[in-house]
Amino acid sequence: MADSASSSSPVILWFRQDLRLNDNPALAAAAAAGRPVIALYVLDTALPSWQMGGASRWWLHHALNALATELKRRYGLKLILRRGDAAAILPALARETGAAAVFWNRCYEPAAVARDTILKTTLKAEGIAVETFNASLLVEPWQVKTRTGGWFRVYSPFWRACRALPDPAPPHRAPKKLQAFNKPVHGERLDDWQLLPTQPDWAGGLRATWQPGEAGAAARLQAFIDDALQGYADGRDRPDRNLTSRLSPHLHFGEIGPRQVWQAVQMAAAENSAAARNAETFLSELGWREFAHHLLFHFPALPERNFRAGFDAFPWQDDPALLARWQRGLTGYPIVDAGMRELWLTGWMHNRVRMIAASFLVKHLRQHWRHGEAWFWDTLVDADLANNAASWQWVAGSGADAAPYFRIFNPILQGEKFDPQGGYVRRWLPELARLPDKYIHKPWLAPAAVLREAGLRLGQDYPQPLVDHDAARKAALAAFAQLRNDDRQTAGAA
Ligand SMILES: Cc1cc2nc3c(=O)[nH]c(=O)nc-3n(C[C@H](O)[C@H](O)[C@H](O)COP(=O)(O)OP(=O)(O)OC[C@H]3O[C@@H](n4cnc5c(N)ncnc54)[C@H](O)[C@@H]3O)c2cc1C
Repeated sequence: MADSASSSSPVILWFRQDLRLNDNPALAAAAAAGRPVIALYVLDTALPSWQMGGASRWWLHHALNALATELKRRYGLKLILRRGDAAAILPALARETGAAAVFWNRCYEPAAVARDTILKTTLKAEGIAVETFNASLLVEPWQVKTRTGGWFRVYSPFWRACRALPDPAPPHRAPKKLQAFNKPVHGERLDDWQLLPTQPDWAGGLRATWQPGEAGAAARLQAFIDDALQGYADGRDRPDRNLTSRLSPHLHFGEIGPRQVWQAVQMAAAENSAAARNAETFLSELGWREFAHHLLFHFPALPERNFRAGFDAFPWQDDPALLARWQRGLTGYPIVDAGMRELWLTGWMHNRVRMIAASFLVKHLRQHWRHGEAWFWDTLVDADLANNAASWQWVAGSGADAAPYFRIFNPILQGEKFDPQGGYVRRWLPELARLPDKYIHKPWLAPAAVLREAGLRLGQDYPQPLVDHDAARKAALAAFAQLRNDDRQTAGAA
């Protein structure tokens, strides 16, 4: 910390994707510094790409409200809100308040890394100390290396290397005391940021489904451990059952940290053998989150470019009408449409259905994975640059350790396997609710009398299939074969 700074000079605690008080190392360090603290959140409108989508903005509004309330209640501390270019706002605020130091927890998105690197240099040049911490990952992207000293491109050895490290440090509780900076500092009003949708207000389903904020995250984790962890390994692929944690938006916004989740699950496993059987499967899913961040950090073009350059020549169809049908859940394949409607109404979709719906867009409709990535970015409350990009590329076959392109999900069989009684489809597609189980995943095969009995007019109440599965599958494989031919020719020419 700058020598010249008197002990009354404040420190700035910059909140980012760590909107919590517990297990927040930057917050703990600010409290331990023995100086007055200024708590700040910046809506960084200068980031060159991937500004938050609509569902994320909705979440952020409520998460900031919850954080501001807790900071006030516990420490009498006001959360200062500023909007603009964080790289300019931080030094200006430090000058204005005579701050001796800035503390933050690290982010790993390429634009954030670039901004933070510049910011560190600027602040240090002005004699302002900077301390950064890890609040968001179990293992930071540079902490594990392959045997040859490189970064991992395959999940299993990556996760083995992570598991070989000592267990994550136990999470620490929020500090009891924090000295608030008592001079007035100008902050903007959250409402002025207009993060909530108004015309129209499409967020009713989000409000009914989620409780953003640290308390909501803690409640969600507890409910998962009490009610679902014991059935996770067998049940996590069943969208008709509520057996996954739904922690993804809370983890994305840092309302809970992975070390807290890790410890809670390990403690449950130590107490209960049924939980123990499932814990490792659950932790390995957290491992996919770690892997996605590892990939994005080392391959920053992941959200924009094929990880496997051989895919650059893939003959995508560019058809906005097909894309719009997929977005609205009007493909005629119930499991796909149910997922897309769940997404639209609640800002979330079950992982198995994300895979089926994404595969359908990329393979059956042959739309570029980036269209799907962009739609998910806008509509998911857990939209996360690393997880979203890595997952889309995984499904498309263009990614690291990806599903092979030629393995094409059959949406009828996937529906029958993972939603056998059609409970999930009936919930999100009420127009199909009265169809018998036998036809719930293939209504176009139902005899006229069955459709009549179910009150369903195909083509009016619910669409006929947008494409024929077998024909679409063949076309996708042919496109892939063409890609491989091109690949071979390019390789021959090189
Ligand atoms: C096309 C596609 C796009 C996706 N986009 C996102 C996204 O933008 N944000 C996001 O958080 N997840 C994304 N996922 C991954 C996964 O679907 C969600 O993390 C998961 O469904 C969240 O539900 P949950 O919290 O109940 O998961 P749980 O099964 O309870 O898993 C616990 C946590 O592990 C992490 N996790 C689980 N599966 C994955 C995975 N495959 N990749 C990375 N992390 C994982 C999440 O943080 C999750 O909260 C995407 C998957 C697909 C197929």
